[in-house]
Amino acid sequence: MERIWIAGPCAAESREQLMTTAAQLVEQSQHTNFPLHYIRAGIWKVRSVPNSFAGAGEDALAWLQEVQSRLGIPVCTEVMNARQVEMCARHDVRTVWIGARTSVNPVEVQQIADAVCHSDFTVMVKNPIIPDLKLWMGNIERFLQADIKKVMAIHRGFTDAQENVYRNAPVWQIPIELKTRMPELPILCDPSHLCGQVKWIPQVAQIAMNYGFNGLMMECHCHPSQALSDADQQLTPAEWGNLVSHLDLRSDTASLELVKQRSMLENIDNQISELLYQRMSLVDEIAEIKRENHIAVVQPQQWQQVVKRYALHPEDTHYQEFITKFLELLHQSSIERQK
Ligand code: PEP
Ligand code: MN
Repeated sequence: MERIWIAGPCAAESREQLMTTAAQLVEQSQHTNFPLHYIRAGIWKVRSVPNSFAGAGEDALAWLQEVQSRLGIPVCTEVMNARQVEMCARHDVRTVWIGARTSVNPVEVQQIADAVCHSDFTVMVKNPIIPDLKLWMGNIERFLQADIKKVMAIHRGFTDAQENVYRNAPVWQIPIELKTRMPELPILCDPSHLCGQVKWIPQVAQIAMNYGFNGLMMECHCHPSQALSDADQQLTPAEWGNLVSHLDLRSDTASLELVKQRSMLENIDNQISELLYQRMSLVDEIAEIKRENHIAVVQPQQWQQVVKRYALHPEDTHYQEFITKFLELLHQSSIERQK
C-alpha cells in the first residue's frame, strides 16, 4: 500500500505563516527527496478551553486555496459540520479530516458523511478521544457507505485518566486491530497530537512505522514557539525533513513480529525513564517538606510500603532478585538526593 505523508501547521494563523511553513516544507521535501502528499492546516479549531485561539475561520480558506495552487500540493483541513464541507468545496479544498472530538458523535459524523456523499472528497477519520474501536470503525463505514473512494484513518491517541507521559495514550492495540479488520484501509499516525511534546515525536513516529502504519500526519510551524495553538508539539520544517528522512521504512514482514515486540519495549522504556525521573523530582519535593518540618530523611516504615508495592510477582524469583537490587539502588539514591 502506498504511504501517505502529511505535514503543516496545527492552525493557519495568517496567510504569511501558512505560505512560509508550506513553502519550507516543500523545500525540505525536495531537498531530502521525501514525498509530501498533503499540507495540513486547521482553520476551525476545536479547543478544550474557552477563549483560546479558535482558528482563522472561513477567511483562511482563500489562503489554503492559494497554497494549494501555488505549491501544487493538496491542502487538507478539519471539518465539524456540513456547512464547513460546503465552504471547503467552494474553495476547492477537497481533503478533510474528522477531528477526535467530532469523532465521538456519530450523529455529527453522519451529517458530514451526507454532505460529502458521492463526491470526490478524500476523508480522514481520526480516532475518537475515547478508546472505542467500534465507534471509530462505525465512523469510517459511514464515509465508505457515502461512496467516498479515498477514506483513511488517523491514530492520534486516546484521552487517558491515568498519568501518562504522552498527551494522549497510544493504546496501539486499537489501531492494530483496526488494521486487521479493515486491511484495505490506509491508517496514518499523528504523533504530534499523540505525544504533545516534540521530544517524543521521532520515537513515536518510528514506532508507528514499525507497526506498519501507512503514513504520518505531523504538525509543523515556521516558528513553533510563536504558534497560537499546540506550540509544544510543532516541528520546524527542517526538523520535519530531518525526521522523515531518518525513518526506518523497512517492509520486511518476516521480522515484523520482532519489530513489534521491540517497539513495545521501546514504548515501555520511554515510560519507565520518564516515570523514574518524575519519581526523583517528587523525592526532591518531599525532601523540602521534611526539611521544613524537621522530619528525619530515612523513614523505615515508609520504605517498607514502597518495597511492598514492588512485590507483586513473588512467583517469579528471578524478577524478585532483580527488584531487590533495583530497590536498594533506588533507596540509596533517594537518600543521597535528600541530603
Ligand atoms: C488537529 O489535528 O488539528 C486536531 C485538533 O487534532 P485532534 O482532533 O486529533 O485533537
Ligand atoms: Mn493541533
